[in-house]
Amino acid sequence: MRKKIVAGNWKMNKTYQESKVLVKELKKGIKNIKLDNTRVIIAPPFTNLQNASKKTKDSSVEIAAQNMCAKESGAFTGEISASMIKSIHVDLVVLGHSERREYFGETDASLAAKVDTALKNDLEIIFCFGEVLEDRKSGNHFKIVEEQIKKALFHLNSDDWKNIILAYEPVWAIGTGETASPEQAQEMHAFIRELVAQRYISDVAEEVSILYGGSVKPANAEEIFSKPDVDGGLIGGAALKSEDFLALVKAI
Ligand code: PEP
Repeated sequence: MRKKIVAGNWKMNKTYQESKVLVKELKKGIKNIKLDNTRVIIAPPFTNLQNASKKTKDSSVEIAAQNMCAKESGAFTGEISASMIKSIHVDLVVLGHSERREYFGETDASLAAKVDTALKNDLEIIFCFGEVLEDRKSGNHFKIVEEQIKKALFHLNSDDWKNIILAYEPVWAIGTGETASPEQAQEMHAFIRELVAQRYISDVAEEVSILYGGSVKPANAEEIFSKPDVDGGLIGGAALKSEDFLALVKAI
């Protein structure tokens, strides 16, 4: 049975000291929540990744990096490699976030290369994609999402998909307070699962967790999470306060 997942993307928020406090609060709070077939993941900034990894070793909170270089090593100033991430016992990485695509020029092709490097280094991937508002308005959203997934992921084999978590994040709903309706989320998630089923055997489609991301908060989470093809959420703003994030974990 595929897992439910609540994943928090801290983005470029929290100093080292602030991150330590939040990790501590989450670790404490999570102990009081019964996790039924549910994974809880947080993606702090690189400056706190090692501390978060150490501090959550004996907890059910898992840690993800927010980005990774496609190259294995070498003269790539400012970049972080897959093996560096693995070396601090972090086994997950977020790839393809719309902010990386928009502000740092990441493309389907460059993401396909990152995906390959991550899998080669035994990193599990939370792969993000989603349409911008114009695509939604013009009715192109299915086509855009299909292209993003096909170009970055459909060269993988069925076995690789054991290490893929999908995150549908309509760009118009990220950090805007605007949420896709539970029906819009379900419609897209069912479309994505069908797409994967057509390319691979249906087991792959049934097993892959598909998260929704875009202004999920305690007030709207339960309704979104209740949809059959929504297996959890990738959370931005509401992941920065332990109270909110823990409420989302309870809502799943
Ligand atoms: C995100 O960053 O992936 C995200 C969904 O952000 P927010 O929850 O703030 O919309």
